[in-house]
Amino acid sequence: MAKNYAIGVDIGGTNIRAALINSSGEVESKAKESTGSKPVAVIHKLIDSMYSKHSKQICGIGLAVAGIIDRDEGIVLRSPNISRLTGVNLESEIKSRYKTCVVMENDANAAAYGEKCAGAGRDFKSFVIFTLGTGIGGGIVMNNKLLSVAAEVGHMSINANGQQCACGNVGCLESYASASAIIGNAVSEIEKGSSSILRNLYNGNFYKLNAEDIYKAALEGDPLSRTVLREAGKSLGIGIANLINILSPDAIILTGGLLGAWNIYVDSAIQEASKRALKELYNKVKIIPSSLGDNAGIIGAAKLVFEECA
Ligand SMILES: [Zn+2]
Repeated sequence: MAKNYAIGVDIGGTNIRAALINSSGEVESKAKESTGSKPVAVIHKLIDSMYSKHSKQICGIGLAVAGIIDRDEGIVLRSPNISRLTGVNLESEIKSRYKTCVVMENDANAAAYGEKCAGAGRDFKSFVIFTLGTGIGGGIVMNNKLLSVAAEVGHMSINANGQQCACGNVGCLESYASASAIIGNAVSEIEKGSSSILRNLYNGNFYKLNAEDIYKAALEGDPLSRTVLREAGKSLGIGIANLINILSPDAIILTGGLLGAWNIYVDSAIQEASKRALKELYNKVKIIPSSLGDNAGIIGAAKLVFEECA
């Protein structure tokens, strides 16, 4: 029987998602569980459920992990949001249980590859993806190939005397432009006494705010929310300009939960990037949303399996 399926697993801090992907990169079936305190057990359970469907046709398993990985050794060097995985040789763990080919990649890198194979990156030779959520990740495709480098764009410093980041550096892009930064800035402005309709949510417990609340308030014209999103977008624009100047990509692809705020946050980023990037390079770059959304990582991980395990 032809082995024309691969399993893609996207391992994030909140959820772990697995899918059975065919060789065209289409999702055949999907399952999701919360990450919890036993991520490896959750990964096993999800892969088991995929095997129960097409066990004989699966050519391998692709793991997209939120964290810094040693791809050659198959080890998760550090996963800030899934501390249980830090130091785990996840590749050999999965390999020994399923006796099949296993490929591991960082989650944003896998998302970049997914977009390259089956999404918004298909028509571009070179692009950088920014995953905009609780944190900010990145992936780079150059000359149609996924660069197997860290591409931790969220930890490029954009402010020499900036805020302390959890990574140890100061002034990281992530500390200014991520969902956590947006929420933190809104909360601290409210604490200082700024007026905002955000105060009326959650019976006044504004510590429960999420990024979507802030975006909705901004759409209703709330000045505080608009300022916070615009400032975060401006920081993102600095990061985008830096990548444009270094790599001269054909496109910048943006994905993640913050895309809902495109017409304030991303517009502000595009405006800032256009001011800062070298004109000749900016003029040829397209800044566009991802087309695969949440599925990019699992599709990318599965596509790597087809390439490396066939
Ligand atoms: Zn950092």
